[in-house]
Amino acid sequence: MMISLPACKQAQSLLNFPGGLNMDQFIPRRQKDKVVIVVGATGTGKSRLSIDLATRFNAEIVNSDKMQVYKGLNIVTNKVTEEECRGIPHHLLGTIDPDVDFTCGDFVHHASLAVESIMRKGRLPIIAGGSNSYIKALVNDDIEFQSKYECCFLWVDVSMAILHSFVSKRVDQMAEAGLVDEAREFFDIEANYTRGIKRAIGVPEMDEFFRNESIVDDETRARLLKVAIDKIKENTCKLACRQHQNILRLQNQLKWNMHRLDVTEAFLKRAVEADEAWERVVAGPSTGIVGCFLHD
Ligand code: ATP
Repeated sequence: MMISLPACKQAQSLLNFPGGLNMDQFIPRRQKDKVVIVVGATGTGKSRLSIDLATRFNAEIVNSDKMQVYKGLNIVTNKVTEEECRGIPHHLLGTIDPDVDFTCGDFVHHASLAVESIMRKGRLPIIAGGSNSYIKALVNDDIEFQSKYECCFLWVDVSMAILHSFVSKRVDQMAEAGLVDEAREFFDIEANYTRGIKRAIGVPEMDEFFRNESIVDDETRARLLKVAIDKIKENTCKLACRQHQNILRLQNQLKWNMHRLDVTEAFLKRAVEADEAWERVVAGPSTGIVGCFLHD
């Protein structure tokens, strides 16, 4: 907030009085730049919402999903396609060497650079992704980020039972789209799935299948594949629950003011009705929230 020159002079003269005033309240403070952050469990629609908002607010998106930062496994990690991006530039999406461990510190460094470059273009940065440890490291633990930016948090939430059935179907669609061949590229003969992109759900679960697929009969092969796919579904559901719990922790313990958007209704509808519900319960209200945040 800027204060006028006469107001500054008046403040200085008041300071001459004994027991005077705290000068801090008269020092003009630089207004912080604004950043929107979209959180939510896997499968809830964070990408769709962030792209919707980006088209309405001249924004660019910084990915905060710790597996989508890597090059490769586009289907397995469920990266947005070029068509889904609708021309919106994405940062930190498929740019990191799949063998390295991209730490919270790395994320803070690269995401801060991306946010600054988006700001320089006069655009709004939207950080979106499921990795809450990345968001916490950036927003809560990085003093520099805190001092520069004011954040608006949007939390995309879906009833867990509905989300579980949705992510299970999504895994079947991934399998049809080529999950198995993608994951095969990262099969590790030593079964070491502790670094980089190999930690992605969809890779370790396929290990047993890849180890045996060429030496077993068709029936056993189909059974092993089903076991692997079921395990991927189970682990994705567990991930969604963990992410949901982590968001509640950020809200309750760190007192982040999250705007929760319940997407369940849109998940229960189909086709045009689903799109209409999405606009009514998610995209429309989020647009209002971000509009108020930016003009505050
Ligand atoms: P944690 O501290 O448990 O790593 P986090 O908030 O840092 O939590 P999450 O996004 O919850 O990160 O990811 C946890 C794990 O879930 C990853 O290490 C990876 O195994 C898996 N995972 C996350 N995102 C994806 C994805 N897009 N595709 C496949 N697996 C993923």
